[in-house]
Amino acid sequence: MPRTPEIVTIPCRADNYAFLVHDPASGHVVLIDAPEAAPITAELDARGWRLADILVTHHHDDHVAGLPGLRAGARVIGAAADAHRLPPLDLAVRPGDTIACGPFGVQVIGAPGHTLGHVAYHIPQAGAVFTGDSLMSLGCGRLFEGTAADMADTLARLAALPPETLVCSGHEYTLGNARFALDVDPDNVALKARAVRAQAQRDAGAPTVPVALSEELATNPFLRTDDARIRAALGLADAPPVAVLAELRARKDRF
Ligand code: ZN
Ligand code: FE
Repeated sequence: MPRTPEIVTIPCRADNYAFLVHDPASGHVVLIDAPEAAPITAELDARGWRLADILVTHHHDDHVAGLPGLRAGARVIGAAADAHRLPPLDLAVRPGDTIACGPFGVQVIGAPGHTLGHVAYHIPQAGAVFTGDSLMSLGCGRLFEGTAADMADTLARLAALPPETLVCSGHEYTLGNARFALDVDPDNVALKARAVRAQAQRDAGAPTVPVALSEELATNPFLRTDDARIRAALGLADAPPVAVLAELRARKDRF
């Protein structure tokens, strides 16, 4: 009987998420991002798991601050392009690399836009992609370093993954993102249903991530820059997709 890897979502800090991926057969455990050590250590202890690999999406403090308390005995993996501003890496990776983390073949996907060195990690055996602050639930990260064109390319790469892939993003931003999405795409039935469900999840104290890529494709305006209704709402009916993305991001920044 095939045994499916488990994905555990761990709330950290005010609104961050870290994720554990556990292979039941080998006991191998991978952590994606380290916002703070205590809740991650507590989760590991409660399950009797030990970290083998730590994958870092980008250098911002709210994704790496927990590393000093977690890295003993584990391998820390991050982008070679950002090695100078990440905590010390045991393995520096580049977009396009596939690395072995125990039984997992982890695909490194370039995800610039929020930061220039940002990467996402796709673990096909877990059916999941870990997107940090690039593709987010009903949104995308702010453009602190890259351009709208960088983010458009990033989102296109992530959107091309199998639609059943679970998108594990780095923050609980769904409700705020839903308010903006509904402002530019008010007649989207799938979006309205998702916003209602997200509110119920938050009311119950549950995370709204991960979410299937197929659902993001139907509801996230930043993945829907070809949509005629969104384009009409922005007054950009005939603009190139990257111009639509740039306008969405600028409006979201002011929203
Ligand atoms: Zn960030
Ligand atoms: Fe962040």
